[in-house]
Amino acid sequence: MRFDIVTIFPGFFASPLSESLLGRAIDGGLLEVRLVDLRAFSDDPHRKVDDEPYGGGPGMVLAAPPVFAAVEALRAEPPPPHVVFLSPQGRRLDAAVARELAGRQRLALVCGRYEGIDERAREAGLFDEELSLGDFVLSGGEVAALAVLEAVSRFVPGVVGDAGSVTADSFEEGLLDHPHYTRPREFRGLPVPEVLFSGHHEKIRRFRRERQLQETARRRPDLLQKFTPKSDEDRRILARVAGDLAEAISAASPDAASTNPDLAEAISAVPKVPQ
Ligand code: SAH
Repeated sequence: MRFDIVTIFPGFFASPLSESLLGRAIDGGLLEVRLVDLRAFSDDPHRKVDDEPYGGGPGMVLAAPPVFAAVEALRAEPPPPHVVFLSPQGRRLDAAVARELAGRQRLALVCGRYEGIDERAREAGLFDEELSLGDFVLSGGEVAALAVLEAVSRFVPGVVGDAGSVTADSFEEGLLDHPHYTRPREFRGLPVPEVLFSGHHEKIRRFRRERQLQETARRRPDLLQKFTPKSDEDRRILARVAGDLAEAISAASPDAASTNPDLAEAISAVPKVPQ
């Protein structure tokens, strides 16, 4: 899969693109990442790409001409890229979006800076879509572009050596991942759960499924609310989880549910199961 990243800081990407998973995927030809220096598309003798905002106010604005020229040059090369502008005003990046984007042959990621890009890029429909990392403001699109690149790449076949590790990740099933442990067996008085040494694959699978559902109930009741149990086993675990949480609430102060809305929400999120 090919990525073109439009940025005024191509050097920003040097180390992330040469290390670890991304570095290996690029070396192995699974990913091709081209850095496009926006300044190369400036008509200005000093390669200036920003200017003061009309109407006044703080900060600078990335000017329309170099941004249009860069994106149009990318569109002129086959295969046509899906052009994404990184922006806090875009659609929120999540696992489903990353998987969907991995189905594209080529993605162009355009990084804003300063106060953003001249609004006419949007008005003219220069971008196919806008993606946001979340409701906070970064100083530029580069960190967001890297996040998109890494999240999308994990769904490109071969990039993650063991495909099973991607399908077991958080959010793949609408649940969080189960916890992981490694050596040493005991650390600071904390033992690794005994079942993981049993060598009994079915017991281990059941233990992990239970922890996965428990952790999701506790930390992300919003996810659990959308989750459809996959088996009778899931339904049994969920019933138990709901029981555990209810107990936890009554063991705490009587008004625990009102002071801990997360716990209350977790309980109401657990699907009701006939006993
Ligand atoms: N004034 C703009 C923010 C500009 S921040 C606003 O409030 O909407 C400068 C650039 O950083 C943006 O153009 C965008 O490319 C990038 N950026 C900032 N926050 C981001 C986020 N949450 N997700 C993706 N890109 C972001």
